[in-house]
Amino acid sequence: MEPTLPYGSFTTADQPGRPRVGVARGDTVLDLTAASASLLPEHAALFAAGTLDPLLAAGPEAWARVRAAVTGWLVEPGGGDLAPELLVPRAAARMRLPFAVADYVDFYASEHHAANLGRILRPGTDPLTPNWRHMPIGYHGRAGTVVVSGTPVTRPCGQLRAADGSVAYGPSRRLDFEAELGFVVGTPSAPGRPVPLAEAGRHLFGVCLVNDWSARDIQAWEYVPLGPFLGKSFATSISPWVVPLAALESARVPPPPRDPRPLPYLDDAGAEPPWGLDIRLEVALNGHVVSRPPFAAMYWTAAQQLAHLTANGAWLRTGDLLASGTVSGPGRDERGSLIELSWNGAEPLTLPGGAERAFLQDGDEVTITARGLDFGEVRGRVVGWGA
Ligand code: MN
Repeated sequence: MEPTLPYGSFTTADQPGRPRVGVARGDTVLDLTAASASLLPEHAALFAAGTLDPLLAAGPEAWARVRAAVTGWLVEPGGGDLAPELLVPRAAARMRLPFAVADYVDFYASEHHAANLGRILRPGTDPLTPNWRHMPIGYHGRAGTVVVSGTPVTRPCGQLRAADGSVAYGPSRRLDFEAELGFVVGTPSAPGRPVPLAEAGRHLFGVCLVNDWSARDIQAWEYVPLGPFLGKSFATSISPWVVPLAALESARVPPPPRDPRPLPYLDDAGAEPPWGLDIRLEVALNGHVVSRPPFAAMYWTAAQQLAHLTANGAWLRTGDLLASGTVSGPGRDERGSLIELSWNGAEPLTLPGGAERAFLQDGDEVTITARGLDFGEVRGRVVGWGA
C-alpha cells in the first residue's frame, strides 16, 4: 500500500471532546494538532480546531509547506524522530467528518456509466443525451446529509410508482450504491470569475472516496423535469481521509480522447499535467468484491468540472465537494453501481453462499477502497426504515 499521507479529523476514547487533525501512515496516525504546536509553530493555527477547514482555506503554498514537513517526519529516513505520544494507532482513531461540506455537486462524468443508464432507462434511443459530450453534466446535491464512513444509512422512503401507474409512499425497494471519487475545494474563487483549467490545481486540495447512495425507484419517478432530488439527498458517504492531490502526481494520466472537441473553456488537449487519474476502485458488498471501477476511464476531469461549475460566474467556497459521478469501466466487473451490475435487476449478482442481490437489502454493507493507494475506505451499512 503506497502511503499518501492523507489528512483526517479524529478523536480518541480518552479525549472524545477534542478533535484533532491527523495524518495517516500505515497503521499509525500522526496527531498533527499536537505535533504542529512544537514542530511547525508557524502553521499550528491551521490545526488547532481539529478539522481540515483552516488548512483547506490556507491555499497551495501552505499545503506544500505542511506536506513537506509531514513527509519529512513520516517518510524520509532519519526523519521519524517523533515523540511517541504524537502517534496514535490507526485502529484507535475515531474518525469524524474531515471538513465542513459547503456545497455538494455530483457529476456524471463516466461515459460507460452514462451509456449503461441510457441503455437501461431509455432503450431504443441514443444511450448518451445530446449534451453529454459537450459538458460535464451535474446537479447540486445536499451538503447537509454528507456523512462520514461508518455512519449507518437508513433506507429512504419516498413516492414510488408501480407498473400499473399507481403511486404510493413507502421504503425504497431499489436502493443502490455509486462508487465515486470526491474532489475537495480548498481555495475559494471570486464571484463572476470562471476558474480556468490551468488554475484548477490552485483550488482543488485533495480527493476522498464517495458512496453516493441512490434510491432508483424514487429517482425514476421524481427526476423529470428537474433532475435528482429525494432519491439522492438522504445520505452521501465519504471516506474520513482526504488524499492531497500532491500525493497523486504519479497517478496522473491523459484522459480519454474527446469527440467532439470541447469548447475552449473545457478543452484540455495537451495540458500539463493531465487531470486523468489512474486509480482503481474496489467495491465490496458484505465483504465480497463485486466491482473494480477504473477512474482512468472517466471522460471529464475534475479540472473540467471545476471550469464548468464556475463558467456561469458562480464561485467556489472552501469545503465544496465535487463528486465525479459513478465510476464505471467497459467491463461487466467494472461497473460502479448495482443498477448496472444487475442490469436493472434482470441479472442479479450471486454472492458467496448463494444469496442474490439486484439491489441492497437491509443489513447489507458496502465498502469502497482504492487499490494500492491509501485512501482509507468509505463504508456504510443499510438499516431499515424505522429500525
Ligand atoms: Mn452519483
